[in-house]
Amino acid sequence: MIWVDQIVEEIATRFHDKIAEGKPLIIRDEKTLSGRVHVGSLRGIVIHGLVSQVLSMRNIQNTFKFELNDFDPMDGLPIYVDQEQYRPHMGKPLFAVPAHEPGAENYPMVFGKELQRVVEPLRLPIEYYTLRPLYETGKFNEVIREALDNAEKIRTIYYEVSRGKKADDWHPLSVICEQCGRVGTTQVTGWDGEKVHYTCKEHYVKWAEGCGHRGSISPFDGNAKLPWKVEWPAKWKVLGVDVEGAGKDHYAAGGSREIGRRISEEVFHNPEPLNIPYEFFNFKGKKMSASKGLGASAKEIADLLPPTLLKLLMIRKVPNQPIDLDPEGATIPTLFDEYDRLADHYFRRHPEPYEGYARTFQLTQIDPIVPPKDLWKMRFTVLSFILQMPHLTLREEAVKLKGSPLNADEFAALEERAKYVLPWLKNYAPEEFIYKILKEPLSDLKLDPAQVTALKALKTALASPSLVWEGAPIHETIHLVKAEQAIEPKNLFQPLYQLFLGRTSGPQVGWFLSTFQREEVLRRIDAVVS
Ligand SMILES: [Zn+2]
Repeated sequence: MIWVDQIVEEIATRFHDKIAEGKPLIIRDEKTLSGRVHVGSLRGIVIHGLVSQVLSMRNIQNTFKFELNDFDPMDGLPIYVDQEQYRPHMGKPLFAVPAHEPGAENYPMVFGKELQRVVEPLRLPIEYYTLRPLYETGKFNEVIREALDNAEKIRTIYYEVSRGKKADDWHPLSVICEQCGRVGTTQVTGWDGEKVHYTCKEHYVKWAEGCGHRGSISPFDGNAKLPWKVEWPAKWKVLGVDVEGAGKDHYAAGGSREIGRRISEEVFHNPEPLNIPYEFFNFKGKKMSASKGLGASAKEIADLLPPTLLKLLMIRKVPNQPIDLDPEGATIPTLFDEYDRLADHYFRRHPEPYEGYARTFQLTQIDPIVPPKDLWKMRFTVLSFILQMPHLTLREEAVKLKGSPLNADEFAALEERAKYVLPWLKNYAPEEFIYKILKEPLSDLKLDPAQVTALKALKTALASPSLVWEGAPIHETIHLVKAEQAIEPKNLFQPLYQLFLGRTSGPQVGWFLSTFQREEVLRRIDAVVS
């Protein structure tokens, strides 16, 4: 049983009664829209989305709600916005900050739309919502009252869990200042059951400056928001959340998840949702916009991989193990190869099919309910080789390699793969994946006598008119010569690559030679043995 099936099993047990009553389970995740969506956020989205899909496959009703958080205070200035223009907005609720690009209603939704665009090809069953309307329509009024009534208890929980000492008059609420519109700079110092008293402090936070205003206002209907460590468990109650995972930065001892759990149980009297703790998604690409100080955005990763492969990258490991992606290393070719290997298990081509791999392959599909078609796929390394060879045509080589014509779906799959291989070759591929055909074989190629003898014998065999000039028969011929000459395979194969590539390795040798004219192969062998 793979990890997602285990989690779904746990969910089915824990929420047995709710499921039996036919009530949909609520799965939730969120992203604060304070900047471009970093790759790390994708992991949570895919984990929650997959849990939702697998629950649905088991006919367990559920809704995956994803919050586009537009209400947190603006607490950082990304380098890709005009610094002078945006500095005055620091401390305001994100929704009150104007958009820096056309087409979005405000600043956070520029990032919200980017996130939706990146996630869309994965077709996860996501129901998006923004936070602000929940406050403005009074959905948070009850939890705000509970939090204010229990201000002292919350201060104690903060202290017990994280040793964070709050002032005795600190209340868990941030009012939107009636004078300057900031929410990050205000401190509530009193609550009389109807109104809160607050001060907009000049030096309350490092990243924004308050205006000094003091006032009293109703804390309800969007006038104020809860600080996020209190707001998190408040959302669990308001939305009735049953399942919500947390990234590593939140679930450490003394972290926000622990504070959230205690506030949830002791203040809101609501159980903590089932947790799925997940590790970081580490990104190692130096060439990505990390160089511009942005870190890799989710969009850049999504542009690198087709949706199924992106999904595979996110689900192939159990959530509590980190994922590493280095597009400049072998990660991407390896991922494609893994996908093909999983397909072999799913389609029972593997001599000992393993259910876990087959299941992973099924769940990697964009719609995991529809049985995937068994399509012939060209290996990533072969495809990347062909695309670098000006004398080869992708479609023709595909037919030769498959040994029969490709159907329309297979051609489409081939073209799709090529679409991702080309930019990878251009921008990220390490040296070992780069091939160039030499105009002439290297003049200083060193061969020992056994190699010369074997190559001469091979030349004669390859010259035979009875040999059909195709990958498989050439491959057999090379192996026959190798056996007759009793030569180490690498001692025969390496010079064959060196003749054309100036390097000792390459794609499958029989097919490789078949991509050249027979006369050209014979000429090059001749040039080094005579
Ligand atoms: Zn103010």
